[in-house]
Amino acid sequence: MATAGTIIFKARYLLPIVGPCIENGALLVHNGRIVEVGAACDLAGSKEVEEIVDFGEAILLPPMANAHTHLELTHVPYWDAFAGEREYPGFTDWLLRLIGVLRGVPLEEFSLSLSDGIRRLIRCGTGAVGDILSRISARNSYDNCPLRGRLFLEALGIDAARNRQTLKILQKLLLDKAPGSMAYGLTPHSLYTVAPEFLRQLSEVALRLNLTQSMHVAESPEETLLVRDGSGPFAERLYPDVGWGSRIPPASGLTPVGWLARHNLLRSGDLLVHGVQVTSQDVDIIAGRGLCVVLCPRSNQRLGVGTAPVAAYRAAGVMLALGTDSMASCGNLSLWDEVAFARQCFADDLDPATLLGMATYHGARALGLEGEMGALAPGYGAHFQVLQPSHLPSAEKLEDYLCTFGRTDDVKALYLDGKPCNP
Ligand SMILES: [Zn+2]
Repeated sequence: MATAGTIIFKARYLLPIVGPCIENGALLVHNGRIVEVGAACDLAGSKEVEEIVDFGEAILLPPMANAHTHLELTHVPYWDAFAGEREYPGFTDWLLRLIGVLRGVPLEEFSLSLSDGIRRLIRCGTGAVGDILSRISARNSYDNCPLRGRLFLEALGIDAARNRQTLKILQKLLLDKAPGSMAYGLTPHSLYTVAPEFLRQLSEVALRLNLTQSMHVAESPEETLLVRDGSGPFAERLYPDVGWGSRIPPASGLTPVGWLARHNLLRSGDLLVHGVQVTSQDVDIIAGRGLCVVLCPRSNQRLGVGTAPVAAYRAAGVMLALGTDSMASCGNLSLWDEVAFARQCFADDLDPATLLGMATYHGARALGLEGEMGALAPGYGAHFQVLQPSHLPSAEKLEDYLCTFGRTDDVKALYLDGKPCNP
């Protein structure tokens, strides 16, 4: 529901993302939508202004868009003390341990965990999310939730009979309206956990219902070994451990991206999450097919799977967004911390303005919110966050400042439709 009336929101710095920083800037908002953006002194004379909200020594900018997370896993560190440790085992050990932990968690716990994840996102200035959901009963946590974005229902399995059952359930569910202010999407978990035939069926459903898909692709060397060579730790340990020992795929000779391209499963507008283990040919394929790559650098570092070739993605013109991934592989759900880490990790390839654009404008676009969220511009919803640092930097140093650690604590408020959100 939008705020009625005409309001001016002003602050020392206004960062529209789609334009340069405005010092002593303001938004003119009518019925929850942005009418005008400019210098506060120019807008103050507008007729019919009912209220002026002055945030003072603050920074006003679009909300964060966390393009990949699993909020149902927010409580993993409570369920498994191991997840909070700094030293992580290899990817296969991590995966096996996580599968084991999740098996012992009662279903109702996932709803509580998801609700807590939503609160945490709001507290750190996040207005849009690409959330992967595998326990579909937990989706009602989004009822009455102000967050926008996509709720990607996750599918996983290699048994044909079970997959048919899952597909039926998903198709029925996807015909309903998504909970809260979210839209539905589909997530085949990964190439190593979804049978090829099931991938094809899910892709057909997505095409028919016009749903965006999001998939973990090229995350680890282990994934490449399995897909390309039919061998490695997944074949030796993961598959036997989960009872799939007799279903190890044959060597394809293809990278994960190459495999998906060969089977015509890469669609424009879909989200390719991680994209770490890719060749230069893979990067060209991703660019050519128009996918958005969601980088999760903190998770990649913690799981020791490598670093995404950001320079190659940028040179090829691939759209990039950022995600935290889940609390099972990341210290917190703050995209501000992801930005700060990415700035360190990709210092030569991602300048502050580009990073801030990925975390807001491009993230929102990737989640289907173009023209609605991600920029402070006329026509957009009045969606913004307010940062109030103890000392404001100079205007020239603002973007650099925003890409350093500590900004999560600067977040003082999140406004959606011109109204403050209470976590
Ligand atoms: Zn993930």
